[in-house]
Amino acid sequence: MSQLYGAIEAGGTKFVCAVGTGPDDFREIRFPTFTPEQTLQQVIDFFAPFQKELQVIGIGSFGPIDLHPESQAYGYITSTPKAGWANTDILGTIKKHIDVPLAFDTDVNAAALAEGEWGAAQDWQDYIYLTIGTGIGGGVVSGGKLVHGLLHPELGHCLLPKHPEDGYRGKCPYHHDQCFEGLASGPAIAERWQQAAQSLPADHFAWQLQADYIAKALMGFVCTLSPQGIILGGGVMEQQHLIGLVRDKLKQHLNGYIQAPRLIDGMDSYLVRPDLGTRAGILGALLLGQIKLGGKHVLYSN
Ligand code: ADP
Ligand code: ZN
Repeated sequence: MSQLYGAIEAGGTKFVCAVGTGPDDFREIRFPTFTPEQTLQQVIDFFAPFQKELQVIGIGSFGPIDLHPESQAYGYITSTPKAGWANTDILGTIKKHIDVPLAFDTDVNAAALAEGEWGAAQDWQDYIYLTIGTGIGGGVVSGGKLVHGLLHPELGHCLLPKHPEDGYRGKCPYHHDQCFEGLASGPAIAERWQQAAQSLPADHFAWQLQADYIAKALMGFVCTLSPQGIILGGGVMEQQHLIGLVRDKLKQHLNGYIQAPRLIDGMDSYLVRPDLGTRAGILGALLLGQIKLGGKHVLYSN
């Protein structure tokens, strides 16, 4: 019998759980993120019937998370701004009820892995997968390895200069209107304009401002990490017109300084949407599990 894998993409707005034998046979369910108690119970209920056949469950979670197995808080979502979710033992809670090996990493590291394996980044050694959704986060691959380092990258909390016409006080409880997430996450857009991001018309100034903030952050990443490409995922990027605005503004902000042809004539293939669409995260979680079972993976440096 073929091996059955489980995967969880834990997001601030929605959770995705899946079981199957591989990327082409992977049955998914999605449900909204409520309290940790309710939401993790739904996760446990989903996997319980498969417990005997499951080989592993890979978990890609919103962060910050503790990834150091020797740490007391290993497997926890730690200092998240998401209400009710700080210091949640996500791994321990699942482990208590579902007795299979668990693999654990950030949602964006998982998505970066999947795009490297099956998606837009198959030819890149240095790239970023950025999500702009409930929060903003990025998975970084550098020299062909997924970066973990001290903790894991937190690209959403880089400082950004505020737009002179923006009076919004910011959504990040740690950095207020000083960081990327505080200014440009889905909830920041909703609070600034007093309506859900998805209900703002395409010609609203909100999108110019949004593109400006994303492009400023990307300029920082281009200059510090020198990626060969950047993948932009997450709910906010579902606005189809946004990526074009970001490409234009990134060129504008870089102002011709970095002399790479990709940034001049190849912007359409430099800043891209995920090839795997909204499945990047859950397929990445599947890969995390497969790597845990199978050992090595070229992108995985842990
Ligand atoms: P999660 O953060 O749970 O992974 P998403 O990446 O879908 O989930 O992010 C959810 C955020 O994205 C919400 O703030 C929501 O308002 C915003 N969002 C979702 N769809 C759209 C859309 N089509 N246009 C603009 N914003 C969207
Ligand atoms: Zn912040």
